[in-house]
Amino acid sequence: METFNSKLPDTQESIFAVMSKKAVEFGSVNLAQGFPDFDPDPKLIDVLSYYAKQHKNQYAPMPGVQELREAIANKHLNCQSVNYCPNSEITVTAGATQAISTAISTLISKDDEVIVFEPIYDAYEPLIQLNGGKVIPITLETTEFSINWSKVADAISDKTRAILINTPHNPCGTMLTQDDLNELAKIIKGKKVYIISDEVYEHITFDKKQHLSVSTHPELKEKAFVISSFGKTLHITGWKVGYCLAPKELTAEFRKAHQFIVYSVNTPAQYAIADILQNEESYLSVGKFYQEKRDTLTAKLLGTNFKFKPAKSTYFQLIDYSHLNYDDGLSLTDFLVENKSISLIPLEPFYKISRAPKFVRICFAKNNTTLQTGISNLIDL
Ligand code: PMP
Ligand code: GLN
Repeated sequence: METFNSKLPDTQESIFAVMSKKAVEFGSVNLAQGFPDFDPDPKLIDVLSYYAKQHKNQYAPMPGVQELREAIANKHLNCQSVNYCPNSEITVTAGATQAISTAISTLISKDDEVIVFEPIYDAYEPLIQLNGGKVIPITLETTEFSINWSKVADAISDKTRAILINTPHNPCGTMLTQDDLNELAKIIKGKKVYIISDEVYEHITFDKKQHLSVSTHPELKEKAFVISSFGKTLHITGWKVGYCLAPKELTAEFRKAHQFIVYSVNTPAQYAIADILQNEESYLSVGKFYQEKRDTLTAKLLGTNFKFKPAKSTYFQLIDYSHLNYDDGLSLTDFLVENKSISLIPLEPFYKISRAPKFVRICFAKNNTTLQTGISNLIDL
């Protein structure tokens, strides 16, 4: 039999799926994969079922239902003071993953280079490779996980077609600042380099700090695909509804690909989300909600030997395991899931060129009992 010529010869099963499976296999508390273990607002379930009963069960319009695109425009204006036209600049997607994939397909041809930052979210590299592109990783600075912009300027070549940003950042919980956006704008000025900005944790920010979208910088906005997901904001990762904001010309190109990749997205879910977004508390309250969970987690962690800096955003907390006799996070997380009834995420799969620092990731999108039980398993380490 002929061997299959894989386009992704080095790609393995996602670490999130692997550690969730191990949690089930060993009966461990799953603080690994990023998803809530609680239900969304019951009103959201009610309106979903209402719209299904109201015959909203056939294909939605290709760019998304009008009501949802308008609600997204209002939400973005409300939080970032930036306008996007619902008709020509907003497209509803099957989660952020499809939006990222489609933006990459829109931009990247064979041998184009894409600058990414490690720790890197696991989907980015294979999606770039599937389109024939080349990943150019830059490692975030070790202590603060910040971007060294002179390294970015040095990495730009005439093949660079895009820079892929993730803010707020999974797994570091950091956010880009105004200075970062200014530096980025300076670097790409006058170049045919575009931005893909993954902002799925846009509403999960803490300690009165707000997310600053790439779209707030006028020069970046002109060249950016800004992507988000309702999975994170409304506790519905399984609904897979997200969106892409981009200027008219970029959206037109994005939609050429979108219409044949997915055509349209779950209709009753779009109507239900549009309804819920009418109440701005649905997204404005999520930061406070998760800050309480972060605080519950970090209070528990104080009773352990793990060092940490409280996450500034996202629902992930990194903890430093350098006091333990483990060379890497993979062996530690395997030990923990098999012997200590807790599943966490190692950082090694997020690193392509540098050695992963000695941190593991905890997901705190969990109810308080799950969090308490999970962390009590770390106390004697
Ligand atoms: N980007 C990042 C940084 C993520 O953490 C996730 C996690 N789920 C996604 C994209 C994917 O979002 P979605 O589930 O909406 O596809
Ligand atoms: N983004 C989630 C995480 O970081 C997982 C999503 C997935 O499993 N694809 O854990």
